[in-house]
Order: sequence, then C-alpha cells, then structure tokens
Amino acid sequence: MKRIAVLGSTGSIGASTLSVIASHPDKFRVVGIAARSRVHLLAEQFQAFHPARVAVWEEEGACAFTRLTGHREVLVGAAGLTELATHPDVDLVVVATSGHDALRAVVAAIQAGKRIALASKELLVMAGSLLMRLVKAHGTSLVPIDSEHAALFQCLQGVPRAHVRRVVITGSGGPLWGMAPAQMRAVTREQVLAHPKWRMGPKITVDSATLMNKGLEVIEAQHLFEMPLSRIDVVIHPEAVVHALIELVDGTWMAQMSPCDMRLPIQFALSFPERWETAVPRLDLTQLSALRFIAPDPEHFPCLRLALEAASRNGSSCIVLNGANETVVHAYLREQASFADIPRVIAEVLAQHAPVAELDLEAILALDAWSRRAASEALQACAVVPMTT
Ligand code: MG
Repeated sequence: MKRIAVLGSTGSIGASTLSVIASHPDKFRVVGIAARSRVHLLAEQFQAFHPARVAVWEEEGACAFTRLTGHREVLVGAAGLTELATHPDVDLVVVATSGHDALRAVVAAIQAGKRIALASKELLVMAGSLLMRLVKAHGTSLVPIDSEHAALFQCLQGVPRAHVRRVVITGSGGPLWGMAPAQMRAVTREQVLAHPKWRMGPKITVDSATLMNKGLEVIEAQHLFEMPLSRIDVVIHPEAVVHALIELVDGTWMAQMSPCDMRLPIQFALSFPERWETAVPRLDLTQLSALRFIAPDPEHFPCLRLALEAASRNGSSCIVLNGANETVVHAYLREQASFADIPRVIAEVLAQHAPVAELDLEAILALDAWSRRAASEALQACAVVPMTT
C-alpha cells in the first residue's frame, strides 16, 4: 500500500490523481491533500478520501474548509505544506501545484527521502539542478507526470544513456497552430483557451497557445534526463498520439504512443516500476491515418524562442523566464494583459537580467520574486501605451 500526499489536489492533475487512486483502493491510500483554491472541492475530496492531513495555502481558505467540513486541524501556508509533504506517513508526494509556492515543500520532501511524482514543470524550470542534485543525494526518485517526459522516461527505461543520440518532445501545436501572423494578433481568449487535444488548467493552456509550454518542457527535459540542449528537439505533431521519441546512436527510433489522457502518465508515476491496468479508452491503430511531424518556427512563436534562448544560457535565466511568464499569463487570464504582452513582457524582464551561476534555494526564490515584480512593472509600463492588438 503506497501512502500518497497530493499537493494541488483541486487542480486538473490533482483531481485526475485522486481518480487514479480511487481506481486502485487496494494499492494506494491518500494521506494528505493540499490546495490553494477551490475549497469546496477540497472539502468534497476530504470527505471522499479521509486523508489524515489537509493543507490550505491561506488562512481564509482554511476557515472556509473548517466551516464546510467541521474539521479543525487544517495546516496553513508554506509551513503547513511542508509538514504535510514530509510527514513520516507519506511514501510518495504528487506535486501538481502550478506555482513556485510548493518549491520549499518539495525540497523538504526530497530531503526527507520521499519519492516524488512531479507534474509541475515550473519547479524543474526554476530549480532543476537543485532538485535533481537533492534526489541523487537522498537516494530517492523523481518520476515525471508531464506527458512528454513520462513518455521519454518510459522510452529510456533500460537504455544506456551512451546509446541515446537525441530525445524529441512532441507538441500538438496548441490552439493557434497554423494561424497566419495577422490572425494570431487578433486572437481572442476563447480561442486561446480552446485546446484541440488536452483538457488542462488555464495557465498551461495559454502556455500551449504561445508554445511557451514546449520551451518549458525542453528545460524540464534538460534536468530530468541530463541532456544538453543540442540533443533535445521539439516537433509539432498535430495528431498528439506520439508523445515523445528517442533516437539511438545506430539510427533506431523508439516512440511512446497513447491516448491524450493524463491518467496514464499519472498512474505510471504512481505504480512505477510496476505497470497496471487502466480504464482509459484504448488507442485504435486502425483509426489513425497520417502521423505528421513538423518543425516549429520559433520566429512565429516568440515565447518558444525566448525559452530556448534562456535554456541555452544557464539556470538563472530560466527562473526569470518562468516568473515573468507566469505573471503575465495570469494577468492575461484576468484580462489585464493582451496576448501580445506575453512575449513582450518576458523579453523585457529577461533583458534586465544578467545570468548568474548555480543558485541555492533562497537565491532561487529571491530571483523568482524579482522576476514577478519586474514583469508587473513592465506590464504597467505597457498599459499606458495605447495597444493596437
Ligand atoms: Mg506536456
């Protein structure tokens, strides 16, 4: 029986994780759930799974949770999240929070020897070197849930790293793929938020439209698989059937194919190294027609270009890229920024940053906070200029 804590249980990945856990009651037990928002859903999850511990990010949410459930022992804030993730009862921590707030708790969980199933690419983008170093030092494991990285993780099982020539991450292209530049400048929020293949949270859906998501995934792969940027490729694969491929030194390719259903990578991350049945609808090979693989044009998707440039510098640029992106994407979702502001603000903030070598946890968090402030300031500066897009 694996005892699991889910950080970010009310988000899209968190809720899917609980549904995977519910489908294997003999194998998994939920011992902790944590959320920042959607306290009603958190209360429902608490009543369905009876975890020993619950954490809510803000005091107000904790009070609302107590009103809904009558349960008074609610952990609060960063300290509460860390207490939940490091508790001796926990074997494995699913990290499905979208933000940087969980970084301290994840570091503490690794230091406590917990196994990590990681969906939050932002944490690897911010602190990949630190997290992977700690995973090694504490003899634990970190299994990716992000579908492309879960695919690479599976392709690479049993393959000596010296046999790998390169790894390839696929992307469906997101909701705006194929649009002319003029169309893209006039794109509406409804279009941006209508992903053709995956149902996900709003932040990652915007990142999919800008292709920032693929850029973040390249940085994620650099850390997870210790691959140099020159050996990580991105291809657009509109059918979204192949999630990643590896090319071996002799010219052999291996690919991972599956339906677009996050329950698959989630379950594998929880069951690894075992593999179990799922209720996920099967892929029907005879229903597949052509599988296309197309090189993306980074000039057409400036966020992808910015991410690849940051990936080619060093870790500190990636922290700034991530903090600025998250700030401007949340502003976009609140209708306080235009679609064109997203790359513009990120580029402005990156231009103010001089890359620095290896950072510790406190320096990472400080730079993350700076990048968010700088992005807010860049947005305010943009806002006084009449916008044409
Ligand atoms: Mg992905």
